[in-house]
Amino acid sequence: MENDTLQHRGMRKRLIETIAQKGITDKNVLDAIGRVPRHLFMESSFIRFAYKDQAFPIGAGQTISQPYTVAFQTQLLQVEPNAKILEIGTGSGYQAAVLLEMGAQVFTIERQQELFVKVQQLLPQMGYNPRFFYGDGYKGLPTYGPFDGIVVTAGAPSIPNDLKTQMAIGGRMVIPVSKGDHQVMTLLQRRGENEWEEQLYGDFAFVPMVKGTN
Ligand code: SAH
Repeated sequence: MENDTLQHRGMRKRLIETIAQKGITDKNVLDAIGRVPRHLFMESSFIRFAYKDQAFPIGAGQTISQPYTVAFQTQLLQVEPNAKILEIGTGSGYQAAVLLEMGAQVFTIERQQELFVKVQQLLPQMGYNPRFFYGDGYKGLPTYGPFDGIVVTAGAPSIPNDLKTQMAIGGRMVIPVSKGDHQVMTLLQRRGENEWEEQLYGDFAFVPMVKGTN
């Protein structure tokens, strides 16, 4: 890939080692992170930090998630090749690229026009082609569901009902749910038409999920 050097690859290898040490065990997730050139998703002033395990600003008051957090959410989703995955909060497009590297069909929604326009140009240039949508992720994409997996990359006040009903039976949703000043990573599994099971996976920090578009 253009602008992806041997040096970048070396830094990615170390990043993978770091997140593996922090507890990510799924080899498919680690391999996917190892293939996505994160430095190409960042503003020029932050490029030198691209392979640090940290979140960084991407404009419009938003951030590209920390690689460990992306890996954690992706691992919980248990992405199978060809799975239909809905992402809420396209942001930089980095999480979408990781999902595509895992062989998923990716549908991604962003509510900030500025970011939506930018990512729609950037990702295809790198060979990543999710289906992009501009809109309010609280509503999901009723006409494209049901989804095998839904990943929400902003802190939600609670689990939106429209997203629950767009999960396939047997499907998984990974969503950080706000509690005070942090979010609790939550895995929801749909067991039946009216049956969902919830498990909690520890505290994280996300930008808030906001209603409407802008
Ligand atoms: N997945 C992104 C993380 C971006 S941060 C990445 O890999 O870079 C979270 C994103 O969620 C922001 O871009 C924010 O604008 C978006 N967002 C917040 N509320 C939303 C909503 N209701 N619908 C869609 N996107 C939303």
